Amino acid sequence: MATPRTMLIAGNWKMNGLENEALALAKGVVAGAADVRCALLVCPPSVQLSTVAAAVSGSGVALGGQDCHPSANGAHTGDVSAEMLSDIGCGYVIVGHSERRADHGESDALVRAKAEAAQRAGLTAVICVGETEAERDAGRADAVVAGQVTGSVPKDATAANTVIAYEPVWAIGTGRTPTPDDVQAIHRHLRDTVSANHGADFAAGVRLLYGGSVKPGNAVELMGLADVDGALVGGASLVAEDFLAIAASSA
Ligand code: PEP
Repeated sequence: MATPRTMLIAGNWKMNGLENEALALAKGVVAGAADVRCALLVCPPSVQLSTVAAAVSGSGVALGGQDCHPSANGAHTGDVSAEMLSDIGCGYVIVGHSERRADHGESDALVRAKAEAAQRAGLTAVICVGETEAERDAGRADAVVAGQVTGSVPKDATAANTVIAYEPVWAIGTGRTPTPDDVQAIHRHLRDTVSANHGADFAAGVRLLYGGSVKPGNAVELMGLADVDGALVGGASLVAEDFLAIAASSA
């Protein structure tokens, strides 16, 4: 039988904040972590990972990178490897965020190679998928996310080393969200898709996060959906009280 899914609230800090701000934010999250029942993850910019690693050490708050290179090392100027992330204290890495797919032209094959690298290094890969507004308007959201998840999740991934984040591109940073019924329906569709690809145990155990304008005001409704196992939070993760309020809504 698959392990019950623990709710995970993950903060993607993106390219925000200087080191003193990252430290204060990490300390704020740590200060409230004992009061929430779900798992917490923070993903600061890579140059701040060591500072945040020290701040969250021993607190139960997990640390993640925002991206990794498929290779373990080599001539890849500006990149970081999954092994480097693991070495500095990360347990997770986000791969395939829509901003990387759009800004850096990342394909499903590259995202899968990054997820494989993460899993090779012992990290859990948070693999992001999501349709654009034009794709949704054309009635293609289900097909797009099924294609992304099929192309991006490694063949030998396990439910323990994989998290899938459904983030409709049009909901990221816009204050707009799909209806709860739409979120549940597409999460169910994603779970059915991974069941077909990886088997029923994988599908029952893998955590599916919703991301896109999650705030304290909508978290109870979104996090209460049957196939939603947590959130990937951008803007609201930059304020410790808001991030913790979302987490408190999610147990
Ligand atoms: C994100 O980019 O992962 C995200 C969900 O951002 P926001 O919460 O700001 O919409």
